[in-house]
Amino acid sequence: MSDLENCPLCDHQTAKITKFGNFQDRYECTNCGNFIGVLIPSKWLMSEKYKDRRYILSGVVRNLTDKGEMAFLHQEDIEKYFSYADVPKNPIEAINKILLFIHKKSKSMNEFIRIKFDSEYTIFYLKDYTEFLYLLKLAEGMDFLEKEPGSTNKWRLKMKGWEKIDELLKNRLKSNNAFVAMSFAAEQNVIFTEAIKPALEDTGFLPIRMDIVEHNNLIDDEMIYQIKNSSLLIVDFTKHNPGAYFESGFALGLGIPVIWLCQKEDFKERHFDTEHYNHIKYDNADDLKTKLTIRILATIPNAIKKTNE
Ligand SMILES: [Zn+2]
Repeated sequence: MSDLENCPLCDHQTAKITKFGNFQDRYECTNCGNFIGVLIPSKWLMSEKYKDRRYILSGVVRNLTDKGEMAFLHQEDIEKYFSYADVPKNPIEAINKILLFIHKKSKSMNEFIRIKFDSEYTIFYLKDYTEFLYLLKLAEGMDFLEKEPGSTNKWRLKMKGWEKIDELLKNRLKSNNAFVAMSFAAEQNVIFTEAIKPALEDTGFLPIRMDIVEHNNLIDDEMIYQIKNSSLLIVDFTKHNPGAYFESGFALGLGIPVIWLCQKEDFKERHFDTEHYNHIKYDNADDLKTKLTIRILATIPNAIKKTNE
């Protein structure tokens, strides 16, 4: 049964809530998007500890919803969401995000893009629409954007904005790091050394593998940093390392391309429904090396070019 209630993340008044038993609620909010709250009572989110940081969760949920993913907010994982959110640290980072957003929506170079202040501020991890408006004005003042004459909510990129986009997109590919999420079981070593590592190196990437013991629910800062700094993530679900599921979801949330791998026999044992992603199912290291090299080139078209730079 569905009811209208205030959204526990952004207080929007017309969020639709569907109860599944006593512990799970499904929310549909026009600001935050869709999420399932597990063991998350609104009262708890309104506590001093979380009240002023709820906007970060709005951003996490919104970005996942816009990618067609369902966010599960679980009480035990809440700190994890705060640490992996790509919250802009200053107006420069926020404006960069806004310019990339407008660029992505522009179908032509002269198109004015309609901005929905009252609901789209969450995409940029902003606290409310006034902060969004303020940043748009700043971007206009910096000559990055211009408003459509006579309109109040449509902007397009100006030449300086296009220059900024060019710089941002080039910088995005500056990191040659590719993060590898997989089981550290000894029998998987050969898959790394004879397939994943050479396939990445042949296409100009530096493989980053965290050979650390998995802690219970503790996400290592170094790992978060390494994923954020990677241009590609390779995840192998063989042996079902639970960390690999989190690491690949985290990369997806940041918009980092993910390539999914699994040994053929192990594929039916995987824990979550990741079937809709096009997995490379492999027999052995040799088989994987060829398939992975082709997939990397298809996913990152300028991968080879980077080796020549
Ligand atoms: Zn909301």
